[in-house]
Amino acid sequence: MVLLGPPGAGKGTQSKRIMERYGIPQISTGDLLREHVSRGTELGVVAKSIMARGELVSDDLVCNMVRQRLMQPDCKRGYILDGFPRTAAQAGWLDALLEDELFDNSCPTKAWPIVIRLVVDYNQLLLRITGRRSCPTCGRIYNVHFQPPRFDEVCDEAHGTKLVARNDDRLEVIQPRLTAFEEQTRPVAEYYRQTGRLRSVNGDQPVDEVTAEIIKIIEDHQA
Ligand code: AMP
Repeated sequence: MVLLGPPGAGKGTQSKRIMERYGIPQISTGDLLREHVSRGTELGVVAKSIMARGELVSDDLVCNMVRQRLMQPDCKRGYILDGFPRTAAQAGWLDALLEDELFDNSCPTKAWPIVIRLVVDYNQLLLRITGRRSCPTCGRIYNVHFQPPRFDEVCDEAHGTKLVARNDDRLEVIQPRLTAFEEQTRPVAEYYRQTGRLRSVNGDQPVDEVTAEIIKIIEDHQA
C-alpha cells in the first residue's frame, strides 16, 4: 500500500494502525533517512542539510535505500510505504522495481499497491505540524494544540522527559516542505490517477474514522 499526503496529513499515525492490524511493516522514507542521519552514514551526511532545508533528497539516493528495504524478508507479505513515492520519477521507478524484481512471476495476478491519498485542509496542516512533539525516551507523539501532555511540554509516561519538536517542523521549514509537496508530489497522485489506482480519503475527519475508511478500501480491494 502507498500512503500519500502532505507532511502532517496523518500518514505516520494511519500507517502504524494499518501495520498493527495486518502485521506488515511500515516503511517511512523520512524515518529511514533520519536513522541514516543519526548514524552518520554516507547517505545520512548528504541527506542532513537537504532535510534541514525541507527539500527532497535525490531520487537516486532514496530509491536505492527503498530497494534495499523492500528486499528484506519481512516485506514478502506486503508493506506500507509512507512518504514514498514523492516524485513521479519515484512512482515510475517503484512500478518498474515491482515488475522486474519483486512480483512473483508464477502468480497469475499482480498485486499492484493500493494507493491512498489523505486530503487535509492547509490551515489544519499548519496546526498539526507546528504542534507536533514527541518524547525522546518512549517515542509517544503529542500535539500541543490537539493532544497536549498533562504538563506543559513534558511526557505523561516517561516521567520528566522534555518533549522535542522535529528539526524540520519549525515554521520557517514548513513552508518549503509544503511547497516541495505541492510541486513534486501532485504529479505522483496524477500518475496513480491515470493508472486508475488512486483513492482519496478525507484526512480532516477524526483519526478513527480515517482508519475505518482506509480499512474499508483495503478490504474491498482484497474482496
Ligand atoms: P517526512 O518524515 O516524510 O516528512 O520526511 C522528512 C524529510 O525527508 C523530507 O522533507 C525530505 O527531505 C526527506 N524525504 C523523505 N521521503 C523522501 C522521498 N521519498 N524523496 C525525497 N526526500 C524524502
